[in-house]
Amino acid sequence: MVGNQPTRIRRTDLLERHVVRRHETSWNRLAIFDSIILFAAILFSCNCPAMAVDQVTVDIDGVRHRLTGRIVVEAQDGGLLFEEADGKQWLIQADEIVAREKDATPFVPLEPSEFSKRLKSELGAKFEIHETAHYLIAYDTTPAFAFWVGSLYERLYRGFNTYWKQRKIELHDPEFPMVVLIFGDQTDYRNYASQDLGGDPGGIVAYYQMLTNRVVLFDITGVEAATSNQQRIRNADQINRLLSQPSAGAMVATIVHEATHQIAYNAGMQQRLADIPMWLNEGLAMFFETPDLRSRTGWRGIGAINPIRLPRFKQLLVTRQPDSLHQMLTNDDRFRNSDTALDAYAESWAMVYFLTKVYREEFADYLRELSEASPLVDGDSESRVELFKKHFGEDLNAFDQKFIRLMSRLK
Ligand SMILES: [Zn+2]
Repeated sequence: MVGNQPTRIRRTDLLERHVVRRHETSWNRLAIFDSIILFAAILFSCNCPAMAVDQVTVDIDGVRHRLTGRIVVEAQDGGLLFEEADGKQWLIQADEIVAREKDATPFVPLEPSEFSKRLKSELGAKFEIHETAHYLIAYDTTPAFAFWVGSLYERLYRGFNTYWKQRKIELHDPEFPMVVLIFGDQTDYRNYASQDLGGDPGGIVAYYQMLTNRVVLFDITGVEAATSNQQRIRNADQINRLLSQPSAGAMVATIVHEATHQIAYNAGMQQRLADIPMWLNEGLAMFFETPDLRSRTGWRGIGAINPIRLPRFKQLLVTRQPDSLHQMLTNDDRFRNSDTALDAYAESWAMVYFLTKVYREEFADYLRELSEASPLVDGDSESRVELFKKHFGEDLNAFDQKFIRLMSRLK
């Protein structure tokens, strides 16, 4: 996982960064989409300098920005991965930098109150901010839905932490409050997402944007209430009742899935822009995407059988190719191709489920090692296979047979 100092940041890496993938569901009501950011960076190791405040003036696509924050990675040619005090990151090529200064003031993450003010001035007067222990939820919908999301996400956060703590994975509190943006109106959401993702979000109901570090969604009670001929919901109990219906399950799963990505990056399970195999990244998010909305005390859905992914995985077993495991470990393109994405997701969920049950200690060691992977260090596919073998055994055929044997029995 150790790489060399980067030479430069390629323009094509920046342009290729948006990937939108489609998950279809057995409920067939609303396709779930997942959006992440892809970096095909061939670059870097983290040569993080001392945490003083840096100021850089940059011209990106003809727009000048003056940024204050810290340098996360510096390429050999001076290109930067730069982080502002609110956790927003910028990929800056060397020739986009107009000026650079440094002063002795230590880098300090933005206080929630200051952060809230900044969000309000960015988003406008329509938005209110709901602050919870770990989140700033900016919303222009009913307070009931914003509070419902806050409560759901705090429960997920606690559940995620407790689950991994029991497996001796050390996580830390997020350095920055995690921002969630909730649009009341789907058109406003679509406009924001189009700019943010560089293209129409299609049927995506929520996404996590790795550079802004935000989860963005719209108020799904509007959709659900409209399709079941109800008024917009006004309190948490009504929301729970509405969204506990099977027809809403796919949407709820998506907003949980995206929040899981955000927690994983902010609590130290993974570093943003590190080369984490996609099967693992997505498998972990799916592992947590089965909430029990009736449970107020905890996240009972962690590690439950995923009702979308298991049937799809069993279907895949009929035609699964002998090199499927190797493909999963080495080839992230399967997630980006609409012909193979659903199978890739299902197989990733199955693998994470299997590893948590059968290789509990080894999986924790593997995760710990990956959590140290630095941003923008690009691993090759062979090193991914070697790392997998290091933790789960040299004989991948035997491993694969065991995986299939046990998972095909699940119901
Ligand atoms: Zn995902």
